[in-house]
Amino acid sequence: MTLQNVKMGLMPTGDQKFRRDVSRSLEVPIHLDDEEVSLAKSAPKNLYELFGTSATADEKDIKKKYYDLQKLCHPDVAGPEGEEMCILLNDAWELLSDPEKRKDYDAQIELAKPAALMKVAPEVSTDLAPTWKGARKTLKHHSDYTGIPLSRSKWTQVPPEDRGEKHAQEKMVFVDEWACICCRNCCDVAPQTFCIQNDNGRANVYTQWGNSEEYLDYAVASCPVDCIYWVSREELQVLEYVTAEKMVEEKGQLPCPLSFMQGMLNEPPNDPFAEANRFKAKREEDERRKQLASKDDATAKMEVWFQRILKVFENLSEKLRRSVMPYIQK
Ligand code: SF4
Repeated sequence: MTLQNVKMGLMPTGDQKFRRDVSRSLEVPIHLDDEEVSLAKSAPKNLYELFGTSATADEKDIKKKYYDLQKLCHPDVAGPEGEEMCILLNDAWELLSDPEKRKDYDAQIELAKPAALMKVAPEVSTDLAPTWKGARKTLKHHSDYTGIPLSRSKWTQVPPEDRGEKHAQEKMVFVDEWACICCRNCCDVAPQTFCIQNDNGRANVYTQWGNSEEYLDYAVASCPVDCIYWVSREELQVLEYVTAEKMVEEKGQLPCPLSFMQGMLNEPPNDPFAEANRFKAKREEDERRKQLASKDDATAKMEVWFQRILKVFENLSEKLRRSVMPYIQK
C-alpha cells in the first residue's frame, strides 16, 4: 500500500477497516506500517493545517506562518529538498491571500465534510409579519443570522386609537447606535419602546410599538442627531443583527459620535445601513456559491490538495519534517 492510497476520512476506500484519529478527523487504513501511519496522521489535511492556523484566521496570521515556513524550507537554508515545500507554500498562500479564492476554498472544505461534521446553519425565517415570538435579545457572542429581529414587537397590541399611518404600513423603529449621543430623549418620550443599554450607554429599541404612534413619531422627530429611523420589518432584522454583531466585534467600545465631527477620528463612525447592505450582498453571494458547488466536486478538490501535501511531506527529510511540524501543529 503506498501513501498515495491513503484516503482522507471523507473518501474511505472500499471495505478496508479503518481506525479513526479523532483529533485530526482522518481515517487511516490499519495495515499501513508505523512510519506510514505516522506520516499520514501528522501531515496537514488542508491549507489551514499546512499553516498551522484555524480556518477563521485572518490574513495577517496566515502570512506570518507563511513567512516562517518559507524561511525554514527555502533551498538556501534547507537545501534542494526544501524546494517542493516552498512551491507548495507559495501556491497555498496565493490561494488563501486572495479573498475570492479563499471563499471558494472555505466553501469546499465545508461541503467536503462528512454530513455529521457539517455546520448546520440555523433555519432563516422568511416570515415578515409585524409581530414575532421572543423577548428582546442581546448578543454576547457572534451568532448566526436567524431572520428574526432582536427586539420584540407589540404591534398587534396597539389600541386602535393609538395607531396611524406607520402602524398600517407595519413600520418599525431602529436606532443607529453609532450616531446616538445618549441624550435619553427617546427614552423619556417613549419609555416602553426605547432604553439606554448598560454596556455601551447608547439607546436602542427593546419593544417595537411599546408606545403609541404619536409618541414614537415624536421620539423620532425630536432626536437631536436624527439617528432614529422608521424601517420595514425586513430591514429591521438585518439592521439589528449587523449592529449586534458589530457590537460583539467592537466589545461595545464605541467612539463618541461627536469626535468625528471634531476631527478627532480619521474614519467616520460605522454606518449600520451600509453594513446591512454588505451583509445582504454577502448572503446572496454565499447562496450563489453554494448552488454552484457540489459535494462530489468539493470532495475531489480537497482530495487533490491533500494528496499533494502528503506527497511533499513524504519527500521531506526526517530533519526538515521535524523542523516544520512545530509550526503546523500550533
Ligand atoms: S434621542 Fe437620539 S440621541 Fe438621544 S438617546 Fe435617543 S437615539 Fe440617542
